[in-house]
Amino acid sequence: MNALVATNRNFKLAARLLGLDSKLEKSLLIPFREIKVECTLPKDDGTLATFVGFRIQHDNARGPMKGGIRYHPEVDPDEVNALAQLMTWKTAVANIPYGGAKGGIGCNPGELSKSELERLTRVFTQKIHDLIGIHTDVPAPDMGTGPQTMAWILDEYSKFHGHSPAVVTGKPIDLGGSLGRDAATGRGVLFATEALLNEHGKSISGQKFVIQGFGNVGSWAAQLIHEKGGKVVALSDITGAIKNSNGIDIPSLLKHVKENKGIKGFHGGDSIDPKSVLVEDCDILIPAALGGVINRENANEIKAKFIIEAANHPTDPEADEILSKKGVIILPDIYANSGGVTVSYFEWVQNIQGFMWDEEKVNSELKTYMTKGFKDVKEMCQTHNCDLRMGAFTLGVNRVARATVLRGWEA
Ligand code: GLU
Repeated sequence: MNALVATNRNFKLAARLLGLDSKLEKSLLIPFREIKVECTLPKDDGTLATFVGFRIQHDNARGPMKGGIRYHPEVDPDEVNALAQLMTWKTAVANIPYGGAKGGIGCNPGELSKSELERLTRVFTQKIHDLIGIHTDVPAPDMGTGPQTMAWILDEYSKFHGHSPAVVTGKPIDLGGSLGRDAATGRGVLFATEALLNEHGKSISGQKFVIQGFGNVGSWAAQLIHEKGGKVVALSDITGAIKNSNGIDIPSLLKHVKENKGIKGFHGGDSIDPKSVLVEDCDILIPAALGGVINRENANEIKAKFIIEAANHPTDPEADEILSKKGVIILPDIYANSGGVTVSYFEWVQNIQGFMWDEEKVNSELKTYMTKGFKDVKEMCQTHNCDLRMGAFTLGVNRVARATVLRGWEA
């Protein structure tokens, strides 16, 4: 199912549960602003190349719009739209004072040199600089982008508006980034998993995990879970997949991935088909890569009892139905991966304060937010007699709806 159709469906289900006025529902669904720009730049060989960039600003009722910028060949307006909307509900679930946005450029970053990526980022920033800002829209990293991308955006933006470190988050530490931001999404996934397991009288230690994706989020989640005594029994990335029922040695794998740019060739497990990783035997499955990977094709084969959505929209609504019948408990993306944007918020606060927190403070504040988020989601599950996805959606949508009404909405 198309990402936007799936996201709209979840939103509408939540709106029904909340009894939202239909005009307000329509207004919450339609994005605030959609930006589409042409980015033409010289390649290293002197020829010109053109890429299409998007920034979808979904909603700003609760504060400046916030969300990452993705560089990926599959970036399309519907997907960016869905991801922008998910950011609106995610920041509301986390209860941080932001709205939602998302950006993306349809490109394959692996095929571009560092200087081509820099030129692409600068051209994109030139096209959107007057529509982003500290109090309007604050980009951050996502798939295919990272601290270096944010440094280029900051530099380019500052040429027009003066030095403004708070205009992007996920920056390198030397440019005003926050300690703990790099690990934040993975650490948030750990705290979210602990909150859920705790409710079921379990802990990370001794549980068998499968993680799909070994980028920033998957690799941090694997490392932190391993440190807490969890057993990662299968893992995949774009280069390959491995399994080891005794538990994969994550520190050795991290070393291997650093040296070889991927899991492929790692000897600490048996290599398996990356497509089968989601259906490997485990207690807890963590999709930490692309959207839509859990769908009606594979949902019946999934063995996990719990799914923690570290990726954005990894589970299709059709799969949601199948998994719920099987009794699988899903911790939804808009809560489970909100650790990244929560520490982005801490970074923005530090930039505005002109003060730097130590890492211990960042991590303990993150834990406070993630624990509170779980409690708030559970309360909505009780109020509306619904699953965790609808608990999170009703929580997020209700907070945004309340802010919208307070600003002056008359049905
Ligand atoms: N790209 C991340 C997400 O999907 C982080 C966004 C942010 O920090 O603004 O939540």
